[in-house]
Amino acid sequence: MSTSPCGLLMVVSSPSGAGKTTLCRRLLTEHPELTFSVSYTTRPARPGERDGKDYHFVSDDTFTQMVEAGAFAEWNWVHGRRYGTGLETVRQALAQGRRILLDIDYQGAARILAVFADSARLVFILPPSLAVLESRLRGRQTDSEDVITTRLNKARHEVGQYPMYHYLVLNRELEAGYRELRAIYQAELARAEGRSAPEDDAALAHSCLTTERGALAERLLQGDEA
Ligand code: ADP
Ligand code: 5GP
Repeated sequence: MSTSPCGLLMVVSSPSGAGKTTLCRRLLTEHPELTFSVSYTTRPARPGERDGKDYHFVSDDTFTQMVEAGAFAEWNWVHGRRYGTGLETVRQALAQGRRILLDIDYQGAARILAVFADSARLVFILPPSLAVLESRLRGRQTDSEDVITTRLNKARHEVGQYPMYHYLVLNRELEAGYRELRAIYQAELARAEGRSAPEDDAALAHSCLTTERGALAERLLQGDEA
């Protein structure tokens, strides 16, 4: 599988409720050159979600046929449902040197990193604490009590995957979290285009490197504030 040196795959993951969708939507709105990779899923649409925009909502049979046809760059079970990234979407984007944002879980991120090592940049969004994560999941009012419990039980394990990611964003206060994500994107965009990033972005992005701030994730794992 060939990759273009100037393509950029920004892979963003987080435990459910950390604010990944909120931050990514804003980045996409402010950066029209960035294309969202619309995943396929067998889970039902939530109120307000649109087929083809948020996800391609497909049946179990269709998903199975796509797996057998080799249509996915990666796919996985997440919270009891299947989710996958279309291989053609990623291939075409890279061939055209486009910028693409993938909102996928840590298993998918690992696979994308293995297959598209030159172009993939992995960002993990951290909540300020696991208690805040719980209150955000409840406040969102989109999931049943069972689903919330499953997602919280998985959160610690997901945060434990942080060393695989290039960058960590702390989404405590929304504006600060967004500034970090945007700076990382600007820094990586500059790298993909072979130019220097603006100094402020470069400095902020550097401070978000996992090598610089892994201690935040470690504190979360110990049950403390990040
Ligand atoms: P995810 O996509 O990671 O599951 P969402 O973007 O849906 O998370 O955010 C979960 C909930 O938390 C939403 O109701 C969202 O409005 C809220 N939220 C996101 N970021 C923040 C923040 N920094 N401060 C307070 N609430 C937030
Ligand atoms: P949600 O159901 O809340 O939209 O997403 C649940 C989880 O599935 C999130 O962690 C999200 O990042 C992940 N996810 C969404 N699309 C994909 C995909 O195509 N592949 C993988 N591996 N995970 C995905």
